Amino acid sequence: MQKKNEPVARELMDSLFERLAPCCKVLAQEPMCRHTTFEIGGPADWMALPASATEAAAVIRVAAESCLPLTVIGKGSNLLVRDKGVRGIVLKIGEAMASLHCEGEIIVAGAGALLSDVAKFAAQSGLTGLEFAVGIPGSIGGAVFMNAGAYDGEISSVVEQVTAVSPDGTIREYSAADIRFGYRHSVFQENRCIICEVRLRLRTGEKEAIEAVMADLTRRRESKQPLEWPSAGSTFRRPPGYFAGTLVEQAGCKGLRCGNAQVSEKHAGFIINAGQASAADVQELIRQVQERVKRHSGVDLWPEVIILGEE
Ligand code: FAD
Repeated sequence: MQKKNEPVARELMDSLFERLAPCCKVLAQEPMCRHTTFEIGGPADWMALPASATEAAAVIRVAAESCLPLTVIGKGSNLLVRDKGVRGIVLKIGEAMASLHCEGEIIVAGAGALLSDVAKFAAQSGLTGLEFAVGIPGSIGGAVFMNAGAYDGEISSVVEQVTAVSPDGTIREYSAADIRFGYRHSVFQENRCIICEVRLRLRTGEKEAIEAVMADLTRRRESKQPLEWPSAGSTFRRPPGYFAGTLVEQAGCKGLRCGNAQVSEKHAGFIINAGQASAADVQELIRQVQERVKRHSGVDLWPEVIILGEE
């Protein structure tokens, strides 16, 4: 197994490229700041961009045979990638797996489709149930992994079936019950399978009414959230019985800054990249906010943002 702090040697890089290139599109030394909404993160040794579940399975096999760590990402909207980047292979489920089609009240989406595009496609198809999702900036695969939700809706309420590739490269179907959804939780956080396709069961509705709800939720988001700055959304999980943003504000952290990372003045639940912030800036700010909130209200805050990459 590659050691944590050891850059991949030149010969290993060359032989890996030869093995990965037939599987799918591959990028070497790819800056992760291009693949995260925080716009932060050092280089991935390799980035593989599969166009199908079969291609994803081939990348899994190469990673296993080469004893290299494999990191899966979607749109990178819930990630903080450290400044030294990610060793091994980053497998990005993105635009190449973003197909969308409708079968009656069912939408079948490639896992790389943007959740907001799936929600708009549902509205155009006169299907209701995904209005809550219109402003969540991730992929549908990432939304299932995280059980993303907003405005009293959760992706778990509409997922009927998921196709995923296991760490041993086999492709398997999961029913909603198999996925064991919870608050920002799914079984994929434990079994590390790669979500490739999602079937959503919606209900027939009225297109204009669906679009009106989406427009209202978009306005509410724009008025409350610092969407004009790069971020990864809510920094902290919601502690039972509290709102993280309120706790952060009450602890006097609004506007608090470490380097170029800042607790948003508009919504204290968000940390923003106020200009070339490093991951170290964000991590230090997270630590200071956790400490101040604990001192002020006695509540422990835990990051919702997933932190990846070399220390
Ligand atoms: P990534 O950030 O790329 O990855 C997140 C995790 O999912 C990683 O562990 C990754 O390994 C895993 N993953 C991603 N794709 C796959 C796949 N295909 N197979 C297996 N694992 C996968 N979230 C909410 O829940 N509600 C909100 O209202 C909300 N608002 C946001 C607002 C803003 C401005 C931003 C920037 C973020 C917001 N988020 C919100 C957070 C984020 O959009 C969601 O968590 C989203 O579901 C993450 O999807 P992603 O594709 O970006 O995943």
